[in-house]
This record gives sequence, C-alpha cells and structure tokens, in this order.
Amino acid sequence: MDIQYLKGIGEKRARLFHKLGLFAVEDVVSFYPRAYEDRTAIRTISELCPGEAACFRATVGAPVTHARIRQGMELFKTKVFDGTGELRLTFFNAPYVKNALVLGGEYVFYGKTEESRSMVNPVFEREAGGATGRILPVYRATAGLSQGALRSAARQALAKAETREALPDALRQRYNLCHAPFAAENIHFPQNAELLTVARRRLVFEELLLLQLGLAASRGARVAGRRFSQTDMNPFFAALPFEPTEAQYAAIEDIQNDCVGGSCSRLIQGDVGCGKTVVAAAAAYMAFRNGMQTALMAPTEILAEQHTRSLSALFAPLGLRIGLVTGKKKKELTGIANGEIHLAVGTHALLSESVSFHNLGLVITDEQHRFGVEQRKKLAEKGTPAGDAVPGTPRAAGDVHRIVMSATPIPRTLAQILYGDLDVTLMRGAPPGRTPVKTYVVGEDTRPRIEAFVKKTVAGGGQVYIVCPVIEESETGAASAEAYAEKAAGETYRDLRVGLLHGKTKNRDAVMRSFADGELDILVATTVIEVGVDVPNATLMVVENAERFGLSQLHQLRGRVGRGKRESHCVLFMQSESARERLAVMKRENDGFVIAEEDLRLRGPGDFFGSRQHGLPEFKIADLSEDMSILHDSREAAETLRREDPGLLRPEHAALREAVAALMERMGGS
Ligand code: ADP
Ligand code: MG
Repeated sequence: MDIQYLKGIGEKRARLFHKLGLFAVEDVVSFYPRAYEDRTAIRTISELCPGEAACFRATVGAPVTHARIRQGMELFKTKVFDGTGELRLTFFNAPYVKNALVLGGEYVFYGKTEESRSMVNPVFEREAGGATGRILPVYRATAGLSQGALRSAARQALAKAETREALPDALRQRYNLCHAPFAAENIHFPQNAELLTVARRRLVFEELLLLQLGLAASRGARVAGRRFSQTDMNPFFAALPFEPTEAQYAAIEDIQNDCVGGSCSRLIQGDVGCGKTVVAAAAAYMAFRNGMQTALMAPTEILAEQHTRSLSALFAPLGLRIGLVTGKKKKELTGIANGEIHLAVGTHALLSESVSFHNLGLVITDEQHRFGVEQRKKLAEKGTPAGDAVPGTPRAAGDVHRIVMSATPIPRTLAQILYGDLDVTLMRGAPPGRTPVKTYVVGEDTRPRIEAFVKKTVAGGGQVYIVCPVIEESETGAASAEAYAEKAAGETYRDLRVGLLHGKTKNRDAVMRSFADGELDILVATTVIEVGVDVPNATLMVVENAERFGLSQLHQLRGRVGRGKRESHCVLFMQSESARERLAVMKRENDGFVIAEEDLRLRGPGDFFGSRQHGLPEFKIADLSEDMSILHDSREAAETLRREDPGLLRPEHAALREAVAALMERMGGS
C-alpha cells in the first residue's frame, strides 16, 4: 500500500517520505521513533532542570517582541511565569508565535531548559488536553517534514496496515514478549513508560532474532571437511624469513587440530599487522601436503595481488603453485581445474561459475567483514554438498574446511551475532621489533608544520599516505582525494612524486605497485587502502577530516604504517574541535580491541554497522550497547530454533520464516 493512501500525503510530500526510506504504509509502521517527548508529568517552572526537556504550565507575562538579527533570521521573544518562577522564551523564525501567544494567556509548554533559565523554540498549546499527558514519538526527520506530519502518518499507518505476528506463540510465552500489533501501537504512541519498555523489548528481540536466524542460514550448516593427516610444518617454518610469533604458532596449531579432527570452521581474529597472512599460508600448506587445493579470497584486487606476490616467494621453494583469479585475470582457470595450481588467490571472482577446482579442501576468506552477505552465502555454498556453485568439486568425499580472517577487532557482542557458531582464535600482540605508531590529533593551524614533516619524511627515505574521506569534490566540504592530489602534485609537494588511488582509479594495481616499489613518495588515497595493504617503507599516515571516520577504521588506516623497523607517525586532521575527545582515543590506544569497544560506546552500533564495517544493515531499533540481555535471550531462542527446526518448516514457524527471508532479501540488496 503506497504511502500516498495516507491522508495529507500527496505527491510532493511523498517524495520527502521517500527520502527517509518510507515508500509503503507498512514502512511507516516499522519506522520507529528515535526518541520520545514525555509530556505525562507537568512540572512547575522551579522544577525545570537545565538540559532536560519537560512539560510545564505557565502564563505569558510580556508581549512578544520581534527582531531581525540577520538576513533570513528573525527572533521572537517573550517571558512566561507561574507561581514558582519566570522563564524567558526565544523562538527563531516563528512569526505565528506573535498571534498564538497572548499576553496573560495560560499555555502548556514543552521544551528543553537552558542553563540560563530560558528555553528555545518550545512547543505549546492552549489547553491541557491534546498532547499533554502523553508520550509523543520523535522521529528522524528530514527538511520540510515536521514531526506533526510524521506522527499523523504513523497514526494512520497503524490503523491501516495489518501488523503480522512473526513470532510463534510458544516463543512469545517463553520469553514473555507482547503481541506484534500491541508492540507496534506502543512503540509509536505508548500509553505509558512501562508499556513503551514492553513494546521495545519485543521489537528488539524480534530484530535480533531475525538477524541471527538469517545469518545462520547464510552461513550454511557447520560442515565437516575432509580429514587431514598431521602435517609436518617444519619445511614451512624453515622457508619463512622470520620466526613465527607465539600467536601465529598457536593459530596454526588450532587449525591443524581442527583439520586433523575433520572439521575446521574458524575465525582468526587479530589486529592489523599481527601477521594473519602467515597463518593462512600455513593452512594452505597443510592442504597442499594433504593433496588438496586451497582458495584464498580477498575483498580487493590490490590485496589479492599482494597476497599472490608475497606468497609466491614463500611457496616457490616448497613446490606449491599459486594462481591469481580476479575479474580481469582468469588465465589460471585451467590449472585450477586440473589441479596444477594448489592455491587459488583471488577476489570474489573466485566464486564465479567458471572457476572449478580439481580437489578443493580449504576455503580461506581474508578481511571477511568486507564481503557482502550474498557473497558470503555463495562462499558457504561452495563447500556444502547441496551447493552446486563449484562444478567439479568432489562432494562425496566430504566438504571443505573454512577459515575466515578479520582484522576489524569486533566487540564481543557483535562477534557473537556475526560469527555465531564459528570457533574463534584471537591473535593478540604484534611481531617483534615494532614500535607503536605515534599519533597526533591536530587542527588546521598545524598544517604548515605537518607539510614540512611530510617533506622531511620523504627526504629521509620514507613514504607517506594521505587519506581523504571522499573521491570527488562534493558539497559536503570534505577533503577530496582528487582535488588534494592535484594540489599536492602541482603545489604543496611539487618536488615529490605523488600518486592517486581511489575506488574509481582505473589502474589501481599499477598505482599501488609503484608505491610499494618506492616509485612514488606520497600516495593520496581514499579508504581503498584500508584493507591489508603492506608497504613497510611507508612511515607516515596523514588522515584528512578524521572526524568522518570511525575509530576502528582509523585504527585500520594507521595499521598501514609502522610495518617496518623505522618509527612511524599518524596525523589526524580534524575540522571540528568537537571530535577531539573521540579522536584522542587514538592517541592513547594501540590495541584494536579496546578501540573497537570504545568506538561502539561513543558512536553507537548504528554507526558501527552503518559504516560498512560488517556488511550488515543498520538496526531499526536494537542498540547493542544497551540491549545485552535481550541479545542473550534472542541468541538462545535462535539456537533452539536452529536445533529443533533448522529450515523453519513447521507450520507455526511459517510467518517467522517469511520474515527472515524478507530480511535477508533486504540485506542482500544493500
Ligand atoms: P595482517 O594480520 O594485518 O594481515 P600481515 O600478515 O600483512 O598482517 O603481516 C604484517 C607484516 O608483518 C608483514 O610485513 C609480514 O611480513 C610481517 N610479519 C608477519 N609475521 C611476522 C613475524 N613472525 N616476524 C616478523 N615479521 C612478521
Ligand atoms: Mg591481512
């Protein structure tokens, strides 16, 4: 049902609703308020607390004055009083106030009190009645669409749309969850604070449950691989140019135990630079010695190329042959199909139908969070007997082992949702000989000094990354990589060799390679370099508009430097002072896990999810920093359902199955 069926929404207004992602009447029902105005309690003026929004009844004690303060900005002022005190009111650009507030008239106001016993733009009404005594929803708005219009749409949508119950009765009873229509009504227009809590709990539970069921389905069932025999790893270790770290030995041993035991489904989670590639290589070596092939999948061509390069050097003396498969590069397909190639490294092109393996035994995904849900699902299907994505993969013999690697240190709560049933190996600490990267948070006034520092770094034989948040000049005013590179090459650093790398760069690999080979001094880039790229000679990372990045993302960027022996530096430019507190975390902390927790705390999971960190949709209502106990319950419920009715095929689970399918559809499309 199109939203234009709702009263008051014509073609023009519908477009504003579209901006909020609201197209159908049903969308409005699940467009949950982001806050509420509590007008249930009426206070006296003396009871108003600065910084708090509240309702109070007062009399207008002065005529409304009017002043034009600058072009397009008008100010209306008055005073109100009750038996306990007086309050100044200010309204911006609100000419209606002049007639609406009558001297001596009594009104009920609602607004936030300022430190200085004043209030800006309160809403008010003549009689207690209307909205007074109620809890009103506050929605995420867009220019031109008032809260009133959104409330009216929500009111009507609730009456018109049929709210379907997705949760089976037994489950609702077990976890004490209210009915769907009741929850919908009370999340928008709660009768009181208690019912709001009841409604919210049910909706958060539902959201987290659906997500977990959907992800579990997309992961596929946990499968057994083909049993490996114990591999002597000494030749592999001997071929390494360095001694593995404790963490690397431990991770390799975990994998060996899994594969020898007959089933490896493992997440290797370790901070940037901790040396996960060696672990992947060790696993590929085990498969090789067991006569099986390995597929190693990376999210970008640059990264796939880099893996191919570094692993070729390592594996050549061991007789293990590597082939690269990307969108453009497919000549190795024959070798992969006939088994001459033992390790296929590539992008998601590895998933395409044209890639068939002779004897695939292990699939490794690097930087797994950067893949979309659809791709992950395909990957899971590669190894399941039911999947036919890989013609030629022997299935009778069993399935492939799976390893996923992630450098985004994900807070535990998120890891539980995202990776569910995977075994986890945590790699902490870095290879020896690293000095922590020195980090500076600076404003515009420091720019000349930083520019001098960039030049000094290059003069000393180092290389520099400069990261900008956007590719092209945009109206948002953020530094653009293109404009920056142009200015750097022609002006700021005109004596230096400057390269440009972003998502739309045609010869990305060539640019990255010339930077890696030392043919460029400065690489101006967007976050495409965030993932895994390794240039030990780069010792300075400059991030423009650092306030636009999440802390975890900044940590990943910073991880691009500090990979060699020389001391490295990271400079975070910020355009707004307000970001200082958040960015200061980067100065203090070097541990990606601590930073991720802090990121989650400061920005909230909405942003954490929204920033493409995990390839998941934003939550509509759940808030993982608050909803831990609901997460726990919903997880238990999801596990029970998966165990008792994995396909959700029982009749009482039909609505649930449909809801999960709808969610996965949305996620796949995003
Ligand atoms: P990440 O975990 O981010 O994928 P990499 O595997 O890219 O980390 O390793 C980062 C750098 O550390 C590489 O240059 C790699 O050669 C080096 N490295 C890895 N393990 C060790 C080790 N045990 N000793 C010294 N250097 C190592
Ligand atoms: Mg890596």
